Amino acid sequence: MPKLQPINKLKGFKDVLPEDYVYWNHVLAVADEVMLSGGFDRIDLPTMEKEDLYNRTTGEETDVVGKEMYTFDTSRMIGSKDKKKDKDENIVALRPEITPSMVRAYIENGMQTWPKPISLFTIGKCYRHENPQGGRYREFTQLDAEVFGEEDAAIDASLISLVWDIFQRLKMNDIEVHINSIGCTECKPRIKKMLVDYFKKKQSKLCEDCKKRLKKNPLRILDCKNERCQSTIAGAPVTIDNICEECKKHLMSVLEYLDEMGVSYNLTPNLVRGLDYYNRTVFEVTGKDDRRQNALAGGGRYDYLIEQMGGEPSPAIGFGLGIDRTVDFLKNNNIRIPKPKSKVNIFMIQLGEDAKKIALKKTRELRKMDLSTGIAIGKDTIKSQLRAADKVNALFSVIIGQREAVTNSAIIRDMRDGVQETVELEDLNGRLLNMVEERIKEEEEYKKKAKSK
Ligand SMILES: [Zn+2]
Ligand SMILES: [Zn+2]
Repeated sequence: MPKLQPINKLKGFKDVLPEDYVYWNHVLAVADEVMLSGGFDRIDLPTMEKEDLYNRTTGEETDVVGKEMYTFDTSRMIGSKDKKKDKDENIVALRPEITPSMVRAYIENGMQTWPKPISLFTIGKCYRHENPQGGRYREFTQLDAEVFGEEDAAIDASLISLVWDIFQRLKMNDIEVHINSIGCTECKPRIKKMLVDYFKKKQSKLCEDCKKRLKKNPLRILDCKNERCQSTIAGAPVTIDNICEECKKHLMSVLEYLDEMGVSYNLTPNLVRGLDYYNRTVFEVTGKDDRRQNALAGGGRYDYLIEQMGGEPSPAIGFGLGIDRTVDFLKNNNIRIPKPKSKVNIFMIQLGEDAKKIALKKTRELRKMDLSTGIAIGKDTIKSQLRAADKVNALFSVIIGQREAVTNSAIIRDMRDGVQETVELEDLNGRLLNMVEERIKEEEEYKKKAKSK
């Protein structure tokens, strides 16, 4: 047979292999812990929604919706029977961000009537068909959190402090929080007009994208990463100098509460975030001294979005935190994570057909007792199986050879010092349970002592 070409993964997608998964596990566990301790409830939402949802929330003029969204016409799918039946059911999109689904779920599930504020979070995959470079992936995992029903600045500050806590607990110290206010329905139009007046005069100096933004959403020019636009942006009117009194008061309160909670931040006048729906507080967390790189987390207030989506008017604020980027940050900065506990307590070693049958049966019994087990079926010598047990850091090995199979016994080997004992098969499970429990207790005491030193 001619050698076949293997099929590789899609560009911008990635596999998370065991050596990276320990980072993933750690980040996800910390995120979950901090959010739950902050009084947030976990929910889960579909990764696919009607395309219209994103057109109406994220905004058709944003890069996210305009250029990067994975959309499908399901009526054109092979074998599809939905042709023309329900047009808006047919055009679907993989979610490029989670906030729109959160807002949809809030309205659709009647959360308006729940006691306020409602604090929800979820962790899941998002998709953006953008250029996969510099820590950007086309499939990525986000922690998304939203608070519905409260406009008090204390909510903004406590939400930002939660993001901060997640990174602190991950020992990511070289990061900084950026905050800005982009105004409300009162003052945002005025700011927009000032920016249009300013940038119109300098149009020839702007990049192609910014020329388009000038017509559609001039605020976003401030966020342009293109080198060409930087000097023009630097001279633009500053949003926080031009927001209304109410917005100024709100921003000052957010900052005051953050000071009170000991969260350090930078007031960053050019921060606007790429999405259309934000008002007042916007924030981002990035690596230190590097606002140009990808944000680790970002969010803001969106007090008008729920009404715009057909719900009862209600203030809201939220953030997204990139799990992939956080994992990359930990690895790139050599930040140590806690060593994962030994995954395998007991490793089964067998020789001969009868022994293999006994070993398989015992493995299943031990798993039922919540003892994690490993077995190397394909390896034919005891020596190679012992090596496999070593490799997975097993606490104990159980050796069943031909003689043990005949005499209904087994050898337990302590993998720490190689000491062995022979037990009757019927006593094996009980003896192992005792030994594992004792070992775990020993390790915990050792850890306690090490901590108290
Ligand atoms: Zn305002
Ligand atoms: Zn530009």
